[in-house]
Amino acid sequence: MFHSLAWLSFAQQQKQLRYPLGYFQFPINPNQRNYLAGGMGDLRPNHFHAGIDIKTQGREGLPVYCAADGYVSEVRVQTKGYGNVIFVTHPNGFVTVYGHLQSFGEPLGAYVRKNRIAQQTFTITLKPQIDQFKVKRGDIIGISGNTGGSGGPHLHFEIRDTKNNILNPLNFGFSEIKDELPPIFQSLLIKPLSINSRVANDFSMRTYYPVRQKDGTYTLGGNVNAIGDIGLELLAVDKMSGTQNSNGLTCVELLVDGQEQYYSNLEQFPSEVSHDINVHDDFGIEQLQGKRVQKLFQDDGNEELPIYRSSRSKGKLHIEDGKTHQVSIRIWDAYENNATLNFTIIGKKESYNTTMAISAAPLTIRYEIAENTLVLKAQHLKTPTSVATLVVNNESVVVPITFSKQNTAIYLWDLRKGLPQTITIDGITKPFSFLKTCFPNQTNEVKTESLQFISNTRAIYDTLYLTGLSSGKNFSIGQADIPLRKEVSITFKPTEAILFPEKTSVYRVLNTEREFLASKWQNNSVLFSTEKLGNFTLLTDSIPPRISLVKKNKDGFSFKIYDNLSGLKRVKATVNGQYVLMDYDYKRNLIWSLKENENQVFEGNLSIDVEDNQGNTFTYQTTIEKATPVVVRPKKVEIPKKKHRKKK
Ligand SMILES: [Zn+2]
Repeated sequence: MFHSLAWLSFAQQQKQLRYPLGYFQFPINPNQRNYLAGGMGDLRPNHFHAGIDIKTQGREGLPVYCAADGYVSEVRVQTKGYGNVIFVTHPNGFVTVYGHLQSFGEPLGAYVRKNRIAQQTFTITLKPQIDQFKVKRGDIIGISGNTGGSGGPHLHFEIRDTKNNILNPLNFGFSEIKDELPPIFQSLLIKPLSINSRVANDFSMRTYYPVRQKDGTYTLGGNVNAIGDIGLELLAVDKMSGTQNSNGLTCVELLVDGQEQYYSNLEQFPSEVSHDINVHDDFGIEQLQGKRVQKLFQDDGNEELPIYRSSRSKGKLHIEDGKTHQVSIRIWDAYENNATLNFTIIGKKESYNTTMAISAAPLTIRYEIAENTLVLKAQHLKTPTSVATLVVNNESVVVPITFSKQNTAIYLWDLRKGLPQTITIDGITKPFSFLKTCFPNQTNEVKTESLQFISNTRAIYDTLYLTGLSSGKNFSIGQADIPLRKEVSITFKPTEAILFPEKTSVYRVLNTEREFLASKWQNNSVLFSTEKLGNFTLLTDSIPPRISLVKKNKDGFSFKIYDNLSGLKRVKATVNGQYVLMDYDYKRNLIWSLKENENQVFEGNLSIDVEDNQGNTFTYQTTIEKATPVVVRPKKVEIPKKKHRKKK
């Protein structure tokens, strides 16, 4: 392990240069023990977590302190993502970010409200002038909350350098966070990467469960048999002292026979390439099972994430017959607590069973695409050695059984040799839905009677064996487990009459979820863009959002708001025709009024216009009576005026 130890001391030197220790103060409960609900680089949907999530005792309303002198360079109100967020730029060029705030401190809050009212908008991004909102280290700049895409009250805190690299805040020497616990191995997945590879005598991904030994290291409790090109994938989490949360890892290293084959480090990354997480982790497993599994190899198309140390193999292992390899995987958290998994891979060319027991039951054929290989699985063959006849480029190709396993005959076909049109086994012919082989570094265009697909250069990460099928209002294009770098354009012409096209849009269907996609109709076809492939359907939404009163009085009003399908797009509230600023929390389906200033009272005709993404609108009208003399004042969150100081 000389390799990694030597590197760590180098890393420590680098850290001292890059991170001005002590420059920033902790933004929540400074000088007290704090805990994290999320860590830097955690694997999240479509992005690496760009900072730390600091726990706020399970509640909102804690003062948020500015980490160092500077000025507010950006402030945003977002319904998703960061929610209410402040960006502070410091004299050294670094930027700190404070997300999911319940409210902004004054006078920043008044500035945001004024601009939101002027633009009549929920969401806003403002970039104040350099001297407009100067802040000092320790100033209370906001109140912690749960706005935007947060799953519970906490403060999201980021530190960025002058080049917009996200840095791990834990490298800045905060004494408020402690961690003595090492990360934990959960499972190791090994999969064949080419047509002649096998893992445990099979052509499919296999899961192994690491076992922790008395000395703290992990083993697999047995050897791995494999042959050919294989890739390893890892499910592991970090635990921190004093909290139950599972966070991500900082570094992962794969060594084979003492040689480093793969190394990733998430202590910093540029925010622009965060979307490439979809090639860093196993996108298919993330989409279909919700688990975030990290590949221990740099996959094709994973070219822009600067978090890897280069190696010749990029982590893809080649295992030869008769060879034995010692494999070590080391994982680190931000405090350099680490854990090691050791196991042996034995290169073993097995003899495969290439015959099947015959069956009178009807033939079934399933297929899947794994990298460049088409995996055909047939059951109930009529002869022990029934072949598969593929028609490729209008020519017949005979493929014998590659191997058989558990009453299933498996035939493998290298898709680089061509896309098959049909398969025939025992005289029964079934069609494939392949459309075209698409390549990443070019524009790809495919057109059939009902579907059109256009991907611009670099929209796809890797060679894409595009499939497409349609029936009535439903269609599929590509597979849900393939990530895209950029959006692709799709046109679909349904074979079923659409009664209300102006109320009908495309929805992506995955498991039980339906995601609205903005769609445009042209000549009985629907056009849309998507960053995800898979199954789609056309759905008609002619029902406006539903709105129900929670409370109304002179100090404000709030409503529950729901939409049945396409989702809420716009809410506009007026009292006596005057625009009223509203906040919206999608997690609680709640909208509520904000006062422009302390003295504002709401009296008279209240009108709320709502619109969904399909353009269905509804106007709710009521009156707010003049206030009666007895009014119970609602609780208000006061922003403490004094600066927080540690008691001497
Ligand atoms: Zn966060």
